[in-house]
Amino acid sequence: MLDLELIKKIDLQDCPYCGGPAILEEENGRWFYVVCGDCGSVTCEIEYTSDENREEAAQQVAHLWNIGKINKTGVGE
Ligand SMILES: [Zn+2]
Repeated sequence: MLDLELIKKIDLQDCPYCGGPAILEEENGRWFYVVCGDCGSVTCEIEYTSDENREEAAQQVAHLWNIGKINKTGVGE
């Protein structure tokens, strides 16, 4: 479960493909990725190993999203 403190620190741009909302997702308490709420385009997963580098991993995956390192997996192509 994502905590609000962390979400507030993470700055995500809208999806470059469809303009949809970017969502930071955390899975299994082990890694983050960012996914578009509309078209489903995703970044790769950034894994973290401890609470200390958890926020760093979140920032990293947000950065990947913001510079456009995104796998376009949307339908309709
Ligand atoms: Zn999108």
